[in-house]
Amino acid sequence: MKIEDILAQERRARMAAERLLAQKQAELTNANRVLSKHALTLSDEIMETRVAVEEIKGENSQVRADLERANKEVVIAKRRLWDSLETIEDGFAVFDQNDKMIAANSAYLEPFDGLSCVTPGIPYTDILHIATDEGIVDIGDMRPLAWRDMMLDRWRAPSCDPVVLRLWDGTHIKLVDRRSRDGDMVSLGLNITETIKYQAELSDARHRAEAANRAKSAFLANMSHEIRTPMNGVVSMAEIMADGDLDDEQRLFVNTIRQSGEALLTIINDVLDYSKIEAAKMTLQPEPFDLERVILDVVTLLQPAAQEKGIQLILDFDLFMPSKFLGDVVRIRQILTNLIGNAVKFTSEGHVLVRAIGLPLGECDEQKVHITVEDSGIGIPEDMQSHIFGEFNQVDTERNRKFEGTGLGLAITSQLVELMRGEIWVESQEDVGSCFGFHITLPVEETVEPPKLPQNPGTVVLAMEDRLNRAILEKRLEATGLRTALFDPLNTDAALVRDAYLILVDEQCSAKARNRGDQCLIQTFRSQNPTAPIYFLTAPHSTAAKQSQDAALATRVLQMPLIRSTVFEIINQVGTHSSNKSADMLEAGSDAPLLLSKADRSGFRKMRILAAEDNKTNQLVFTKLLKELDMDLRFANNGIEAVEAFLDFQPDIIFMDISMPEMDGKEATRRIRTLEQDQGMDKTRVVALTAHALTGDDREILAHGLDQHLTKPLKKPEILHEILANCPDDARCPLPGNCC
Ligand code: ADP
Repeated sequence: MKIEDILAQERRARMAAERLLAQKQAELTNANRVLSKHALTLSDEIMETRVAVEEIKGENSQVRADLERANKEVVIAKRRLWDSLETIEDGFAVFDQNDKMIAANSAYLEPFDGLSCVTPGIPYTDILHIATDEGIVDIGDMRPLAWRDMMLDRWRAPSCDPVVLRLWDGTHIKLVDRRSRDGDMVSLGLNITETIKYQAELSDARHRAEAANRAKSAFLANMSHEIRTPMNGVVSMAEIMADGDLDDEQRLFVNTIRQSGEALLTIINDVLDYSKIEAAKMTLQPEPFDLERVILDVVTLLQPAAQEKGIQLILDFDLFMPSKFLGDVVRIRQILTNLIGNAVKFTSEGHVLVRAIGLPLGECDEQKVHITVEDSGIGIPEDMQSHIFGEFNQVDTERNRKFEGTGLGLAITSQLVELMRGEIWVESQEDVGSCFGFHITLPVEETVEPPKLPQNPGTVVLAMEDRLNRAILEKRLEATGLRTALFDPLNTDAALVRDAYLILVDEQCSAKARNRGDQCLIQTFRSQNPTAPIYFLTAPHSTAAKQSQDAALATRVLQMPLIRSTVFEIINQVGTHSSNKSADMLEAGSDAPLLLSKADRSGFRKMRILAAEDNKTNQLVFTKLLKELDMDLRFANNGIEAVEAFLDFQPDIIFMDISMPEMDGKEATRRIRTLEQDQGMDKTRVVALTAHALTGDDREILAHGLDQHLTKPLKKPEILHEILANCPDDARCPLPGNCC
């Protein structure tokens, strides 16, 4: 090749290389420019990032500081928590889901006495093993395996009941374990040694107190017996003396002895009753009873005291009330005696009115019995009205102080009413009077059928001056559908008397006519109306009225208060128009005459009466009380003699003292009953005579085979009643002249 070609070739190559170089330089410049732009952007970004990093750096150190502080706080809180857990005397431990101990305080670990294996990580089952193997827990009669199984069953039960463990040294630990939501078990071991000790002391103290209370009741019962026995002698002897020939002054002394003795006996009974309620020993003994009879008995008992003071004691008994209820009659009588007794005691003129109303309770066989006792006595200041229901509380005023009493009556009464789930209240105004009321709900045992009136019953004329009794009678008669009209001597139309179907005349009205100088009132009525029955109403025990001309002319003499059956009899008379002039006496509360068939049996043997009584005074009282009786009376000084006398004397009736030396009356009666059974003899009536005042004793006594229970002081009518009611057919009546 030619040089020029080669040179041209080289020149072209060189020029191509120069062009390539220029192009590469241009590209490089361009790339440099892009690069520097990018570097610029990068440096901007770096600047920004640096700022951001600085910011984050600040935040980070804040977080770290916070974290450090939080950590510190956690440590403090944890330390405090453990300090607290260590401070409490009760054990605390936490177990994980696999029943391994996570942590426990020293109190929890203390019983294990530093055993190094009892530490976090130990399984619960190992703890149980250590507890039995080392004798830490007193497991009593249980075998260790059984005890551990019992503890494990409890630990795994869905709800784990607390359990009390007794440790070897007498410490009592109550274990309370609870599973948390994440499956851990929190275990508390409460040291209840002091509580157990306190409980034991308390129960010991309670037993001692109960024993002391029983001893107190027994002491009271014994003391009452000891006090009552001689007191009964005093009261009975005074009663016998009062029957004898005494001048006025002697009679006053004798009566004072008797009354004081009776008052003392009442106080003893009150104290006894109260202590019995206090000791919560009083339980109610429901039995069927006739409420009207009970009220009437109490009224009859208090009638002499009321008459002595010249006040009227009136009874208004709901005619339609059931005849029998179920209740504790002894306690109901006690409530009534207290309320009516107080009313008579605190009233010097006017009246005491006892009202009894029954309110049926829906469909059920129960009635709300509502009894009020209203008096026109001294009244009770308003601020004292709730005070008097407290024990030993009385109204402390000059006027009140002259009345005797313990202040226990109303306390006992209100507690008895409360025991019967009833209510008691009082309304009173000083110088006007008081009204005590109570209600109790009682089941009905028997209802009464009121009498049926004829179609057109006619009018009953009431010639009565006794306004209160008249109002009550009027209300009772009208409640049955009868018409009544009042007789006024100055104003009454003669036709009213002439057409009357029945005429009732009270003692006061006839006395008023007599005082006016009129003819005997009943005679006047009889002449005006010869056919209508005329009833003469007398005050209780009014002998003069019963012996008066009115009584002789009347169809019948009725004693107030009229019992329900008498009112029904009166109503039945309406329309019969029969006039029976026999003037028979119908006494409120008296029973039918006894033993009429036994009259005139002078040819028969004497009745044989055995009295088992160790107390010579009581023997004397017994002899004196029955001195007029025609009978053979023998005494036995103790139970053994009584059983012997039962066999050889063959008494018709035995009066049996309960507390006697050697053999008491209960044991003697039991032996007599066995003898009767063994020898196929008839049952002899055995009547307990006791000084026991605690109510409920009578039931206990009767459970030994006795037939009846009478409390001392001996009362002649009660003893006489027993003797006459049990006079056998082959014996003559022991009453003087055999005139039973
Ligand atoms: P006691 O009659 O033995 O004092 P009570 O507890 O029966 O005890 O009565 C307490 C007191 O209540 C009586 O002392 C008397 O002050 C007052 N009191 C009770 N009943 C009546 C009444 N009917 N009229 C006036 N005061 C009464």
